[in-house]
Amino acid sequence: MKTVFTVMAFGLIGASSYAQLAEPKQVVVLHAARLLDVATGTVTTPGEILVRGDRIVEVGMKVARPDGAEVIDLGDETLMPGLIDAHVHLFLHPGDEDLQTVEESVPKRTLIAASAAKADLMAGFTAERDMGTEGAGSADSAVRDAINSGMIPGPRMRVSGNAISITGGHEDAIGFNPEQKVMSNATYADSADDLVRVIREELKGGADFIKIYETGKDSDSGGKFHTPYQYTTAQLEAAISETARQGTHVAVHATGEPGTGYAVAAGVVSVDHAYQLSDATMAAMKVRGIYAVPTFTITEYFADHASTPEGAVRERKLQAIHAEEFKKQLAAGVPMAVGSDVGPFPHGTQARELELMVQYGMAPLAVLQADVLNGAKLLGWDAEIGQLKAGYFADIIAVPGNPMKDIAVTKSVKFVMKGGVIYLR
Ligand SMILES: [Zn+2]
Repeated sequence: MKTVFTVMAFGLIGASSYAQLAEPKQVVVLHAARLLDVATGTVTTPGEILVRGDRIVEVGMKVARPDGAEVIDLGDETLMPGLIDAHVHLFLHPGDEDLQTVEESVPKRTLIAASAAKADLMAGFTAERDMGTEGAGSADSAVRDAINSGMIPGPRMRVSGNAISITGGHEDAIGFNPEQKVMSNATYADSADDLVRVIREELKGGADFIKIYETGKDSDSGGKFHTPYQYTTAQLEAAISETARQGTHVAVHATGEPGTGYAVAAGVVSVDHAYQLSDATMAAMKVRGIYAVPTFTITEYFADHASTPEGAVRERKLQAIHAEEFKKQLAAGVPMAVGSDVGPFPHGTQARELELMVQYGMAPLAVLQADVLNGAKLLGWDAEIGQLKAGYFADIIAVPGNPMKDIAVTKSVKFVMKGGVIYLR
């Protein structure tokens, strides 16, 4: 395996080479032992894809070979659509999140984000939704734009700017000397008017959508999960109406009731984390097509890397509660998207999320559909990505073996093409 982009783009070459790299190869035929149509679960043997420029032209067992087409034989692998991570933090890396905000400059964090974007792409994630820069303002827009212009390698990005929270709420800088003006990881909004003003600033700064923290510090007592809500339904409605006015939407961090219910009633597009949803909330999510994004990997990582044994026990208990609730959510028909919350754990390792969703009761094909089909819808790109179809962007990966038989193969992506450009082969 060689990392094509790394060798070429990060060697000692001039800026003109970036532009050259961003030019997709003209005509390519990808050939592999198998091709998976995630929408139907059909495996074609062998599988071929004809790519012209940045788009897919033909998909099948044997596609046309126009004059000058380069045929790439990927051997005993399975071609499938590029993976989508609907919950990432490019600006975070393992270690204390609050301290990253306080200690690291935005230029430094932006370089870290660029390197995270590359790691995610190389792991097969060709599209992502960034759920907050955690104190780095609108710097995610610059990363997204640099990727789009071919300056740096990375997934297609939908970015939220800095997430919004109440004073003293989730992701605020709590526990410091109040006399010190310590930066919060979130942008403050304490009323409906505040939300509208902050949303206008975020969208002016280049955000594609808005992320709001709807629930605060989680706790459990006597095995019961508790989390306070942060905004009322009416406040969230004001936020959503402002985003709708500007042609976009709101996604929330919401771990449990009543906040999850308030967010769904107001009409958010996704409830991220969703440890606990009432029957009424689950029913409403099914009817309104609101996605739950479970983010299991982060809890597992926090349990495995807890600084105290009590911390590890707490995280494992939370994961166990969430896994049981997830089964209820599946039974209730809650639409699912796949989001890992990568950043606090290492970028490029987040295909573990698909494995955990299977482990907690979802069929492998359903997980793949949640990832690429629902993920594409949630990102607003379902007419262009998430499927191997003529006219779609050539966002294609290859994995060893069949992911419907062993979802773990998504952790060993061998080939990555995004928009017709090969990044890993
Ligand atoms: Zn997150």
